[in-house]
Amino acid sequence: MRIRLAAWLVSTAVLLSGCQAAPSPSTVPDEQASLTPSATPTASPATPPPSPSPSPSPSATPSASPSASAAPPKDTRKNAALATPYRVNGVIVVSKKHAVNARYTPAKPTGPYSLEPEVAKALARLTAAARADGVRLVVRSGYRSYATQAAIFKRQVASYPSEAMARRYNAEAGRSEHQTGLAVDLWDGVTWGLGMARTKAGVWLWRHAPEYGFILRYPQGKEKITGYAFEPWHFRYLGKAHSSHFKANSTLSLEEYLGLA
Ligand SMILES: [Zn+2]
Repeated sequence: MRIRLAAWLVSTAVLLSGCQAAPSPSTVPDEQASLTPSATPTASPATPPPSPSPSPSPSATPSASPSASAAPPKDTRKNAALATPYRVNGVIVVSKKHAVNARYTPAKPTGPYSLEPEVAKALARLTAAARADGVRLVVRSGYRSYATQAAIFKRQVASYPSEAMARRYNAEAGRSEHQTGLAVDLWDGVTWGLGMARTKAGVWLWRHAPEYGFILRYPQGKEKITGYAFEPWHFRYLGKAHSSHFKANSTLSLEEYLGLA
């Protein structure tokens, strides 16, 4: 099992490093991975998107859906309504299944990575805590606009052997969590790709990120649920009220947590 995993990591790392070869804009956007290549995003029309019940009780186990008591609202947004993201229990969800359009941007982009202010503050705390533990964290990518993501996606598709494969590892514009200003790609400044998971930064983050409001957004083995392959570097800010339900080293996905899986 260990060996198979290692082999997989190596082979995928090669793949990822391949797509790193493509030069990128200033913030060196990552390949927002996706392992459900042909997953077709759908905004299903039906019921209005209300705000469901409050966040889960602190005692909820990581595998339990916090919204078990109330099914998530259907995503009925279309056309102009895509300027507002889909939400479950107040949590913004941008994914292959829940897209946004080019008009959607963070409410108050701040700092060098144009993150929401609360995220920027939490990130500073996270980074300081890591530093105190002797771990260097570097932000590789923060907010990315719809247009930037469109350019990245186009370039990545061209750099992969097939579009299907590119889609396993790259988000189309409007389906990247980086457009929310709530997500960051972190690394140690040295090891990128899946190898990052085994660096001090990768190990530390997986364990401690939830303490600072962040979660590993695309855990290993959850590709069919999240729509994206394992990304040990991609962290999504949820706030502690939610992230506290994610244990250290958890592979719980946001979709499972919100009852969307
Ligand atoms: Zn990312």
